[in-house]
Amino acid sequence: MKIHEYQAKALLQRFGVAVPRGFPCFTVGEAVAAGQQLGAGVCVVKAQIHAGGRGKGGGVKVVRTEAELEEAARRIMGMQLVTHQTGPQGQTVRRLLVEEGADIRQELYIGMVVDRTTQQVALMGSAAGGMDIEEVAAQHPEKIHAVQIDPGQGLLPAQAETLARQIEVPEPLVAQARDLMLGLYHAFVESDASLAEINPMAVTGDGRILALDAKFNFDDNAAFRHGEWQDWRDFDEEDPNEIAASRHGLSYISLEGNIGCLVNGAGLAMATMDIVKLYGGSPANFLDVGGGATTEKVTEAFKLMLANPEVQAILVNIFGGIMKCDVIAEGVVAAARQVHLTVPLVVRLEGTNVALGKRILAESGLPILSAANMDDAAAQVVAAARR
Ligand code: ADP
Ligand code: MG
Repeated sequence: MKIHEYQAKALLQRFGVAVPRGFPCFTVGEAVAAGQQLGAGVCVVKAQIHAGGRGKGGGVKVVRTEAELEEAARRIMGMQLVTHQTGPQGQTVRRLLVEEGADIRQELYIGMVVDRTTQQVALMGSAAGGMDIEEVAAQHPEKIHAVQIDPGQGLLPAQAETLARQIEVPEPLVAQARDLMLGLYHAFVESDASLAEINPMAVTGDGRILALDAKFNFDDNAAFRHGEWQDWRDFDEEDPNEIAASRHGLSYISLEGNIGCLVNGAGLAMATMDIVKLYGGSPANFLDVGGGATTEKVTEAFKLMLANPEVQAILVNIFGGIMKCDVIAEGVVAAARQVHLTVPLVVRLEGTNVALGKRILAESGLPILSAANMDDAAAQVVAAARR
């Protein structure tokens, strides 16, 4: 799960990280009022969307007067902000953050991820912070310094100080930078984050270390112990298909391809996507209908896949273990009838009562292509999607 910058900053502040004073705003009027609250100094109007690269896309504007602030707020609120993370269609801006402008001397990068290879949290830093960290990582990986954090000990103050010096924090501010990193680490661990970034972490003219941007992604599996995440969710930023799927207990992730995949079990769903790829096709989604592939769930799953205009063929790949294949076949037939299926449907069934299941599919009168095994299923659906 992702959250907005202003939410991430509120979280960081709880852990002692210094951030500019600022207010989230939902209208231009609120933005003007926020500017008045902040006083006469320089302000920054920032689009709040779940994507980075806003500065380059025109979503961050430094303003010096109330008139400038209002103009910037009018322009940014409601704009379709395109960044390298939004895709070409962009994302509609519905919220702003109006905050105090900082007098920036240096822009540094600080990031934290769960490193699967080392099975530890890694803290990363770079002197080359600001807007182009992806480019720095690609062109000059030596400019990015990393620290592995032992989960038993947590981030050690000495490790944080070493990193602060590596990224060229001025010596008198090393302690401040260290404390920011320790705060970030505690926020990260206690909120079950999977990724956090402060880019830029700014060194200011008046000798402060400030988090000027903040990004947090959380591990959805920990949602049950973070009631406040419900308030932080912004459904406007989420894929409507994924929201609909979660409402029906389906695990659905949109992908770029044109073959809809409906599978029971996450492992089989992954294997299905792999074999579709192996046969030269490209999955339009990951979809796990879970253990109980009922008619209702399969119907909802079909609707989801067909709502995607890219889908040119559907592969149903179900292993009937506890669920019997005849029950699943009836569900598939009923669902296909209900949604007036217009694209080719390939079904691979295996498991309990498989012969009966296949007969139900064959006798349904629907143009269902029955597959003998996974290879056959993948070959058939890839061919069908090409036609
Ligand atoms: P993004 O990473 O999405 O482009 P940032 O929040 O990092 O958005 O803002 C982009 C740039 O705008 C920063 O690198 C910084 O130079 C400037 N900026 C952002 N917030 C402030 C602020 N409060 N005061 C001064 N400059 C800022
Ligand atoms: Mg940034």
